[in-house]
Amino acid sequence: MEPVPYLDLKAQMRPIRAELDAAIARTLDNCSFCLGPDVVQFEKDFAKLIGTKHCIAMNSGTSALHIAMLLLNIGPGDEVITTPYTFVATSWAISYVGATPVYVDVDDATMNLDPKLVEKAITPRTKAIMPVHLYGHPADLDPLMEIAKKHNLPLVEDSAQAHCAKYKGRSVGAQGIMSCYSFYPGKNLGAAGEGGALLLNDDAMAARARALREHGSTVRYYHDEVGYNYRMEGIQGAVLGVKVKHIEAWTAARQRVGRHYHELLADTPLQLPREASWAESAYHLYVVRHPKREELKKYLEDNKVGCALHYPLPLHLQKCYASRGYKKGDLPVSEKSSEQCLSLPIYPEMTDAQINRVAEVTRSFFAK
Ligand SMILES: *Cc1c(COP(=O)(O)O)cnc(C)c1O
Repeated sequence: MEPVPYLDLKAQMRPIRAELDAAIARTLDNCSFCLGPDVVQFEKDFAKLIGTKHCIAMNSGTSALHIAMLLLNIGPGDEVITTPYTFVATSWAISYVGATPVYVDVDDATMNLDPKLVEKAITPRTKAIMPVHLYGHPADLDPLMEIAKKHNLPLVEDSAQAHCAKYKGRSVGAQGIMSCYSFYPGKNLGAAGEGGALLLNDDAMAARARALREHGSTVRYYHDEVGYNYRMEGIQGAVLGVKVKHIEAWTAARQRVGRHYHELLADTPLQLPREASWAESAYHLYVVRHPKREELKKYLEDNKVGCALHYPLPLHLQKCYASRGYKKGDLPVSEKSSEQCLSLPIYPEMTDAQINRVAEVTRSFFAK
């Protein structure tokens, strides 16, 4: 039996390799290594795709999240309500500006911020609500936006895993005051290295974000505020410019893989990542849950089926946030999900044979 890799970036590279070579060669020819025309063009293409007025390309998704916090003037003493069940970078942005991440548990079906619990966590110090569209599945935005509106709080979407996901037919990433994307190689739209972007509609905030990304200056060597070097590299703009043309087809291919898994695994004891009736997931990851996660993981690995854990420890129990005083049992759904989650292989180029093989091995674990 052919092994099924957890992720196969080379499969995506092959058919577009000549186009990528040409795009990279153009950057080497024009020597626009930091920002430059390809980055500007990619910003336009990506803003159009998601449906916002501005896209500010950066060197990572983490940088985009950091700039989002700065634009909202969030700082020491402030609180941001967010999910503990995500990649840690969501929380880094809050910590970088000296504010406090306030963790609210997730909904068991979608593993995203539970709107029913958010309002209770609001205090006079709350300055923003930051949901994550985890694994590509949209957070339940309407009730979250209603709470945000009622309390006059901005909602920032961490869309790092959710390129082209839809919420009630609307484009995820264009719903809150701003959204942050990552183009880390393993994300649905990946650069040939690091990359990220901040998307928003407000002109003044966009101008400030562009300055913050480039050492706090709009005129070279004049610095209006303390800034950062968060520029996207020219080569990444060139690569993303090629790849962005394929993202809708790749998303459809991921959805096909995910929905195929739903059918093939429906009668197993696994808790499957069902799409909510109002959601079109971008299927960044396909995460199943089961109490025997460790045994299943070993069984898949022994049978040469790749798998991974996203995420084995929720943020409120991480050492780096120990001073916050959270303890085990505080956020039970996140903790259960961390203990039971297992990510199966999913990428657009997966063949039917590979999908069937993953399902077959998974099913045979429960049959034995
Ligand atoms: C990947 C990711 C980030 C960070 O993006 P980088 O480009 O790796 O800095 C932030 N939030 C979530 C949910 C992510 O998955």
